[in-house]
Amino acid sequence: MRTSVLNFNRASKTFTRGFTSRSVEGFTGAVGNTPLIHLKKWSEKTGCNIVAKAEFQNPGGSVKDRAALGVIRDAEERGLLKPGGTVVEGTAGNTGIGLAHVCRARGYDCVIFMPNTQSQEKIDLLRMLGAQVHPVPAVAYENPANYNHQARDFAKSLSNAIWTDQFDNTANANAHYVSTGPEIWEQTSGKVDAFTCATGTGGTLAGVGKYLKEKSAGKTQVWLADPPGSVLHSYIQSGGKLTERGGSSITEGIGQGRITNNLGTLINEIDGSLKIEDEKSISMLYDLLDSEGLYLGASSALNVVAAVELAQKLGPGHTIATILCDGAYRYQSRLFSKKWLETKGLQDAIPSHLKKYSVL
Ligand code: PMP
Repeated sequence: MRTSVLNFNRASKTFTRGFTSRSVEGFTGAVGNTPLIHLKKWSEKTGCNIVAKAEFQNPGGSVKDRAALGVIRDAEERGLLKPGGTVVEGTAGNTGIGLAHVCRARGYDCVIFMPNTQSQEKIDLLRMLGAQVHPVPAVAYENPANYNHQARDFAKSLSNAIWTDQFDNTANANAHYVSTGPEIWEQTSGKVDAFTCATGTGGTLAGVGKYLKEKSAGKTQVWLADPPGSVLHSYIQSGGKLTERGGSSITEGIGQGRITNNLGTLINEIDGSLKIEDEKSISMLYDLLDSEGLYLGASSALNVVAAVELAQKLGPGHTIATILCDGAYRYQSRLFSKKWLETKGLQDAIPSHLKKYSVL
């Protein structure tokens, strides 16, 4: 199928009509190849070229579709997962949704263990996608009853089953090394001075960062963005000390208490880190809706705040890339609710001219 598209040339400020010939095979064929969106307002404000990967356009709705497909393909190629097998994972959100889609598309059973603090919408969606869902008590990683350990033990108890182990299975970062990284390199014609994003498993940051560093012979800077309550910013700032950190964040899917294997593949090459408070993420979330028409989850907004701060650090003329991880649809009852934001003390984070968007 050839689709007519309008391409905008920034230098000549003109549109030209072009064609993409993207005809794909099934759900898995539609994963990746997302557009790179130029963020006009913040590029103009900083004098930089701020660009963001539209990962919400993946067929399962998030950046984690790439990791889900990556870990399943890897298990198939290594002979660990055979036709009719079962995929088991511990996940609170997007990875589970990505896995459930890929499992349906490839004929596997899918079993998800998640903390019982998660929204009913997520549980319902996973069940609608055919996954068997086990909500379990939300206890710390160190506790053997943690949802990840339960997923691992459950997979062991079955034959022809794998635990995809998204945090420590580096097939996750590799999915970004072979897809997201090359796409950003190509879409910026190799002119990408810096890349930044927050991490959950660390797969996106490590995979994209590693590829861009290799292609640019180390010139592309890679910065980690961290929400409150995560230990990674202080780990990087202190030169490698893992200290306990209190606090929490409204940004779901990101923040980490340890160096996962995925993050570990790049942690020593990271150029710096930025801690982003929730007030800034919420303000940017509403701003991106107002200025660009983008309806995003909070981790995407945090990533754009980090890209803007990095642009200010590096100065005009640089290209900074980041990730728009998913859309707001999975969180709208929170992020666009005055009451919910009030319970988090974040009602004043929305600039007054943008309060009209918090309609719930
Ligand atoms: N944003 C959202 C909404 C996510 O669900 C995740 C994955 N947990 C991330 C960002 C972080 O991605 P990664 O696991 O590759 O670090």
